[in-house]
Amino acid sequence: MFVSETSLQAWRLTINSAINLIEEQFKAGIKVVLTGKFNQDPLERLFGIVRSVDSHPTVTSFLQIIRYVSLQSRLSFLMKQVKGSNIDNKEPLEMLVTMSQCLQQHAKDIDITVKDFKEAIKDKLLAELTIRYVDDIPKGGKNDFNLNLMVYDLCGYIVKTRKHLTACEVCKNLVRCHELDLPKDFTADQYTAMRNRGYLVYVTVPFFKTILVVELAIQSHFEDLNHIYIHDSFELCCAKIAELHTVPLFCDEHRDYNLKYLVMEYVKVRFHLESKRLRKLLVLQAKSKVQTNFKIAKNS
Ligand SMILES: [Zn+2]
Repeated sequence: MFVSETSLQAWRLTINSAINLIEEQFKAGIKVVLTGKFNQDPLERLFGIVRSVDSHPTVTSFLQIIRYVSLQSRLSFLMKQVKGSNIDNKEPLEMLVTMSQCLQQHAKDIDITVKDFKEAIKDKLLAELTIRYVDDIPKGGKNDFNLNLMVYDLCGYIVKTRKHLTACEVCKNLVRCHELDLPKDFTADQYTAMRNRGYLVYVTVPFFKTILVVELAIQSHFEDLNHIYIHDSFELCCAKIAELHTVPLFCDEHRDYNLKYLVMEYVKVRFHLESKRLRKLLVLQAKSKVQTNFKIAKNS
């Protein structure tokens, strides 16, 4: 046999790639191309750098490291800090682009758009919610005791940490209350009461009910794990919340501002918690799998 099928295939692939690459370089204005200089050393070096940071990277951590490496300052830091890495200061490293400058500019641009975008989402949310105010929220079919406890506790946390929600006295009286003010058949405050040492915040029943319907909308959004792949997941979630019926909270003067702020903050906190949950669920699992496979490969 003249040559194996695999070698033949590789040969065809290489020749085609070389022809395409050379054509591309001619088009870019280069007059002479030395094919002998073609090599994949820089690529191998890149993987060397990645492996020196994390020896068994998952897809997520790989992307993260690539992002770090794109910043030259990080790279010099790595070369100095990481022992046993395949690269040292003597090796000539050339950056294709100076990322730090363009990232800075990019961040500035994004900051501006994100700010405007956030305001737009908030205003849309408020406009939709205001036309759907109801006097009382009817009890939904789903009455999960544990969920009620968690939501109530989270409400207290948000009111306590976002001070200007209760900066006005009237608002404060409408939102916060004492444990004894709550109705006798109200049970959602039990967890808060259990771990209270005197500093936790109790919220009123209408406040809790409003956040509970928001929570249910968020949960329905998180039900399908694929939501992490959706580009505008946050915006979509807000659109779902905008269709809810809520009770008018806060005083007349501050209602508009506080309500949209409160709902957005709650959604933000929930997205943060959800990202932690998903990390536990998906990334750590994948990581341990990679490590197990590595061990098996090493021992066999
Ligand atoms: Zn007020």
